[in-house]
Amino acid sequence: MTEHAVVIAGGGPTGLTLAGELALAGIDVAIVERRPNQELAGSRAGGLSSRTLEIFDQRGIADRFLAEGQIAQVTGFAAMRLDISDFPTRHNYGLALRQKHIERILAGWVSELAVPIYRGRELTCFVQDDAGVTIELSDGGSLRASYLVGCDGGRSLVRKAAGIEFRGWDATTSSILAQAEMAEEPPLGIHRTALGIHAFGREEYEIRDGKVVFADKGPIGVMVTEKNVGATTEPTLRDLREALVAACGTDYGIHSPTWISRFTDTRQAAAYRKGRVLLAGDAAHVHSPVGGQGLNTGVQDAVNLGWKLAQVVKGTSPEGLLDTYHIERHPIAARLLRTTMAQVALQRTDDRTEALREIVSELLGMEEPRKRIAAEMSGLGIHYDLGQGHPLVGRRMPDLDLATPDGSMRVFALLQNARPVLLNLGAPGSFDIKPWSDRIKLVYAKCDDPWELPALGLVSAPTAVLIRPDGYVAWVGDGTQDGLQDAMNTWFGPPG
Ligand SMILES: Cc1cc2nc3c(=O)[nH]c(=O)nc-3n(C[C@H](O)[C@H](O)[C@H](O)COP(=O)(O)OP(=O)(O)OC[C@H]3O[C@@H](n4cnc5c(N)ncnc54)[C@H](O)[C@@H]3O)c2cc1C
Repeated sequence: MTEHAVVIAGGGPTGLTLAGELALAGIDVAIVERRPNQELAGSRAGGLSSRTLEIFDQRGIADRFLAEGQIAQVTGFAAMRLDISDFPTRHNYGLALRQKHIERILAGWVSELAVPIYRGRELTCFVQDDAGVTIELSDGGSLRASYLVGCDGGRSLVRKAAGIEFRGWDATTSSILAQAEMAEEPPLGIHRTALGIHAFGREEYEIRDGKVVFADKGPIGVMVTEKNVGATTEPTLRDLREALVAACGTDYGIHSPTWISRFTDTRQAAAYRKGRVLLAGDAAHVHSPVGGQGLNTGVQDAVNLGWKLAQVVKGTSPEGLLDTYHIERHPIAARLLRTTMAQVALQRTDDRTEALREIVSELLGMEEPRKRIAAEMSGLGIHYDLGQGHPLVGRRMPDLDLATPDGSMRVFALLQNARPVLLNLGAPGSFDIKPWSDRIKLVYAKCDDPWELPALGLVSAPTAVLIRPDGYVAWVGDGTQDGLQDAMNTWFGPPG
């Protein structure tokens, strides 16, 4: 039986990101992926949020995505655009890029990090004991790992087999998504009717002056709200035709679908960890694609979990550190479920909802509400509850310009190998972290940039900052070192 420290079920965006994070930390990790290659049927997610771009920038791979995508002000709430060009980040925009390209780029990165991927094989069941997890594969083989992470999507077998409840709301609307040919040209773009939203688009498009301009040719991507809720079988071409006729009065001669799917429920795993089994991405939360946050949330789950799991596997941190993954990430997705439900509700076209939409639109046109909701939707406003103190604690470390003894440098460049950093911005030599020097990188630097946070504005300049590998601030110094030892113990384990 082949052994790995960590086995990840599912090589979608979440599984690939987690594998990269673990490999950077020197962990023996492998992915089991059902698909024979990285090709993806259907369009699925359409891009990356500002915070996800920052996360990839922290690992030195943001340029790979930026080179292929289109930068645009795509942050929004219920299809109302929220401009974030005044936000204090180097990526004050979103990136339009199809999921198949995002996955291909991530797979390239993971391959450079030499992560083995068992392709064309499914995880069929597993058993966990005190020392690890034994995983059975569809080809009759088996694997043994200290930890198993289910990144196997919304219908996660790992979640079901672990007996983790998937709590939430039954559907109030049901939508079919598909990619197909059409004999007649449909009206490209998004349309709202009394039934709900329907939309038509082409795979290839350009963003010109902030507007999507679709290619003239190619298969059509369709999304249409169904009249009836509650279907439990896989959708067929007939279902799609009927839904189109009900919503548009015609099916536009739709034929030759390459992919048909349906989304309905809004649900979240009650626990992100059960013993040696963890969940991330769609396996932990599913919701309507409105707002475009599914893929981004999965990537951010992976980056929160990766360094913690690596430290536990290495034995530098106790297993309890893994519980902070649920504590930090569960509320983020719980809130996401609520914001997507609110957006779905705002898409109705009855008079009362139109009235509500107008009011919400007015509010979002105001400075404070726009900044607050845009910070949330772009991921820049994420705040983990790591205790009281300076506003930076629990928030993302801004990518400021630093002057270090080795020359000028951006903060994010210090995070590329996914190791913690103690940034000394005060008197040189004032920190002695020898007992942790094998784990935490101590960097002395001067910083003249203003300390400004999205939606919060200017905050006082700290004299030191302890930054976790995921780019969130664990401790802030204000001239003293009070609390630093505790923070290093909590997050990076007791001294070796
Ligand atoms: C129809 C649809 C439309 C969407 N539109 C958007 C959008 O517009 N914007 C947005 O942000 N998000 C959108 N999403 C969500 C987005 O695609 C997901 O949030 C994202 O793909 C989640 O990534 P993941 O890696 O967690 O899961 P997935 O991408 O689902 O990846 C799971 C992987 O696990 C593999 N797998 C499953 N079971 C097993 C098994 N037993 N053994 C081995 N491998 C297994 C699968 O083959 C797959 O590769 C959409 C999703 C769907 C379904």
